[in-house]
Amino acid sequence: MVCRNINFTNVCYVGCSFCGFARHQDDTAEAYDHPMEAILAKCRDAVARGASEVCIQGGIHPGKDHTHYREILEVIKAEFPKLHVHAYSPEEIDFGHRKSGMELSDYLRWLVDAGLGTMPGTAAEILDDSIRQVISPNKLRRARWIEIVEAAHGIGLPSTSTVMYGHIETDRHVAEHLELLRSIQKRTGGFTEFVPLGFIHEKNVLFNHMGARPGATAPEDLRLVAVARLFLRPWIRNVQMSWVKMGPKLAQLALDAGCNDFGGTLMEESISRESGADHGENLPAEEMRRLIREMGRTPVQRSTTYRILRRFDDAAQDPPSLEPTRPRELSGPTRWRLLEERKAATGR
Ligand code: SF4
Repeated sequence: MVCRNINFTNVCYVGCSFCGFARHQDDTAEAYDHPMEAILAKCRDAVARGASEVCIQGGIHPGKDHTHYREILEVIKAEFPKLHVHAYSPEEIDFGHRKSGMELSDYLRWLVDAGLGTMPGTAAEILDDSIRQVISPNKLRRARWIEIVEAAHGIGLPSTSTVMYGHIETDRHVAEHLELLRSIQKRTGGFTEFVPLGFIHEKNVLFNHMGARPGATAPEDLRLVAVARLFLRPWIRNVQMSWVKMGPKLAQLALDAGCNDFGGTLMEESISRESGADHGENLPAEEMRRLIREMGRTPVQRSTTYRILRRFDDAAQDPPSLEPTRPRELSGPTRWRLLEERKAATGR
C-alpha cells in the first residue's frame, strides 16, 4: 500500500517506557506540534507520490482536546476528499472521548462524519493489565481498549490489530493476546489485518533501565507470523509484517512464514526510528515490488481495506517512480566519483 505516516505532535504525557518518540511539551528543542498547514503540506506530498492513505497518529498532548482530532480530519478532507484517513489509536480515542463528554459510539461517529476512515489497532502492546502496569502504567487498560475497538467495529469503523512482543512478556501473554483478538473478530468482524510489531529496544527505558530483553530473535519473529496465520484464520485473513521493525530481508522471509502483506511505504516514520530502528523510513513502491518479486510472488497495490487497486504482473510494465529524485552517492576510488561528476555535468 502506498501511504504516508503523519505524526502531528510528539508531545505526550502518558510516559510509556518503550517509547522513544514522545517529548515533554517544555522540551522546546525537540517537541513539535505541527500546525494544520504543515499537516496539509505532508498530505500534498503524499498524494503527489501516489498515496491512497495517510496514517495520522500523535502523542497525547495535554493542551489538546477532542476538537483538535476532528479539525485535522476536516482540514484534510476539505482538500483531499478521496484520500483515506487512517487515524487515532485507541489511546487517542480514549483521550478525545473523555474530553468530549459524548457517548463513545457518538464520539466515534462524530469523527467518522468528519472523514475518519479506519482506526489503527495500536496502543494494544500486550492486552494483559499485569504487563501494561509495568510497561505503560498510565495507558488505557485492556478493558478500555476492547471497549473502544468493539465500539468502533460496532458503528462500521474497521481497525487493524497489533501486538508488541519481545520485551517482558511470556509466550502465554502472546497466546492470550491472540485469543482475545480472535474472539473480538468472531464477534465484530471489524479487524482488517493483524500486524505483529517486534519491540525495538535500543533507545528506551524499558530495555535500558527496566530489564526488558532486546526484542525478539529472527526465528521468534517468523514463528509468531506462522502461529498468527494458523491461529487467526479464517477470521483475520490478512497478516502483515512490519518492514520497519524486521528490516526488508527478514520481511521477505515473513512472506514465506505466513504474511500476505508487506505493509505501507510509510514515506516518513518516527516512532520506531526514535526507539532505535534503523531500517529506514521510506520503502518506495518500486523497492517493495522488487522485494516481493524476489520471493516469487506477484505484487499488487491495495487500499487500506484490502481492495486490489492494481496488479503488477510484468516488471517491464511497471509505472515510473513517483519518488523525488535524490543525488546518488558513490564512495570508492576517485575515478568512480569523477564518473558521477561527469554524468551530472553532461548527462552521460
Ligand atoms: S507510545 Fe504513544 S501514548 Fe505512549 S508515550 Fe509514546 S506517544 Fe505517548
